[in-house]
Amino acid sequence: RDTIPHAGYELLLKWARAKHHGAFVYTSNVDGQFQAAGFDEARIVECHGSIHRFQCARACTPAIWAAPPSIVPARPPRCPRCGGRARPNFLLFSDPAWIVARTNSQRLRMEVWRMAPIRPVVIEIGAGIALPGVRMFAESLRLPLVRINTHDSDSSSANFLSLHGTALDVLRRIDDSLIAQVATTYVR
Ligand SMILES: [Zn+2]
Repeated sequence: RDTIPHAGYELLLKWARAKHHGAFVYTSNVDGQFQAAGFDEARIVECHGSIHRFQCARACTPAIWAAPPSIVPARPPRCPRCGGRARPNFLLFSDPAWIVARTNSQRLRMEVWRMAPIRPVVIEIGAGIALPGVRMFAESLRLPLVRINTHDSDSSSANFLSLHGTALDVLRRIDDSLIAQVATTYVR
């Protein structure tokens, strides 16, 4: 929870802010890095939930609340309703007790937002093939797709650009070429 987002998030945020309709984040990460980097909470889908939210371990109530600032093993967090154990509101494997309501409302907001941009582009970053949910989601949108990955950068999709490398390196290279493009435009 204390991780500081790297400079790549800042570049993405800069590009998003330069667009009329901004951007929407779809992430399988549960660490809240996009929020920490300054992205609008209302423009994020956390498809596997968040480590920053808690829920009842038995899901006795649909309530989801802010994670306690620190966790002492001797005094594990409790559900305010039943007094049983509380747990982070993110998806574990074979996890029927995960309360999906918060993620579902994020998805709903994204579906509404998606109607707005005229020529949207998907930038997929570091999505693996072992758990391909994010890759499948990115391809299912049938939009121009930029896939940034250190080793699994291929795709069979049309309208597709593969960029091989770490997120930060590739995002910096894109930003450099965007700046160069703007400079050329002004020289003309
Ligand atoms: Zn409970």
